Amino acid sequence: MFLPQVAPLDASKLTVTLSTSETPVPPSSTLLFGQTFSSHMLTIPWSLSTGWGVPEIKPYGPLMLDPSASVLHYAQELFEGMKAYKDKQGRTRLFRPDLNMRRMRNGSERMAFPDFDGEELIKLIMELVKVDDRWIPTDPGCSLYIRPTMIGTRASLGVGPSTEVLLYVICSPVARYYSSGAKPISLLCSSKSVRAWPKGTGDCKFGSNYGPCVAPQIEAAQKGYQQVLWVFGEEEELTEVGMMNCFPVFKLEDGSIELATPSLENGLSLPGVTRDSILSLARQHASGQITLPNLPPASQQKLVVSERKITMSEIVQASQKGTLLEVFGSGTAAVITSVEKIGYKGGDVEVPVDGGEEGESGFGRIAGSMMKVLNEIQYGERESEWSWIC
Ligand SMILES: *Cc1c(COP(=O)(O)O)cnc(C)c1O
Repeated sequence: MFLPQVAPLDASKLTVTLSTSETPVPPSSTLLFGQTFSSHMLTIPWSLSTGWGVPEIKPYGPLMLDPSASVLHYAQELFEGMKAYKDKQGRTRLFRPDLNMRRMRNGSERMAFPDFDGEELIKLIMELVKVDDRWIPTDPGCSLYIRPTMIGTRASLGVGPSTEVLLYVICSPVARYYSSGAKPISLLCSSKSVRAWPKGTGDCKFGSNYGPCVAPQIEAAQKGYQQVLWVFGEEEELTEVGMMNCFPVFKLEDGSIELATPSLENGLSLPGVTRDSILSLARQHASGQITLPNLPPASQQKLVVSERKITMSEIVQASQKGTLLEVFGSGTAAVITSVEKIGYKGGDVEVPVDGGEEGESGFGRIAGSMMKVLNEIQYGERESEWSWIC
């Protein structure tokens, strides 16, 4: 349930106060993910009595919050993750920002925050990245990570709707996620903890979903694995790879290939923008509309694309039979990450990472093909309505 907007979010009311200090932009080779921030931020306050207030672009800096603010006690918070990319002509591009807005509004409704017009927020984000243009790195694989956030700022310890909300957007220049080339990762299958549960909020980008994942992540790291493979229930259904969507690839009996991913029906997985894009590209390939690079055309090798339940026992069996072709994760930060093994019940399930001779190194065949196409679209090297020029 949304709280009423009262006054709508209106990008035309924007005021801009420029920073007086010209902080130098660090070379992209020194950037660590999410640790450097651009000079400006966007803030838009909302209150139940007056609705959406004046959007402001102003120097990046600390927020003033009452210590009783609802975000600090009851985790009334949600966020988004998207990127701005520079193309060869120097233009700035966003990748499917409409989907980020849709997901953010869904989260806002679940959190009993107000609704807003996503197109207005995109206009404001475009203004912000224009003001901070010099912060968008131009080296290959680099981009400006954009973090829209909503927090409940009502000063009260009563658990209830936050009658005051702050929507703000900060930006962080990011290098290629894996600086020394893509490397496949190892996963430890979660046995003691779950990330999300049916009818929970695992399908929303709520801060409250992420904090509790840190301890299991540290445990996995102590055992020598890089990420947690989050599974759910008696059947150990696959849900997420760390903070990425999960894509196993199987060889079927008739020789065709199945690209599978957990369905979104039960709310255990996040509806990723990258996930949606991969499914869409794979379906276009499967129907012969396009042929993905380094893959045989669908007329030669059928590609089946499925959103369904995938269990750990299926993964183990497929690995033993040799029909598990690859496993990869997808998300805005790294785009695609291949998996090379999964720690499970004290042993390791080996996952092939064979991109073939022409493939992208460090990726399985489908993973590498998707990485290539998504990158081309994001950087404006392949024509697509998914890439929005600012
Ligand atoms: C953000 C996120 C993803 C990926 O979503 P994208 O829109 O592709 O970036 C996947 N899983 C979790 C848990 C996430 O938070």
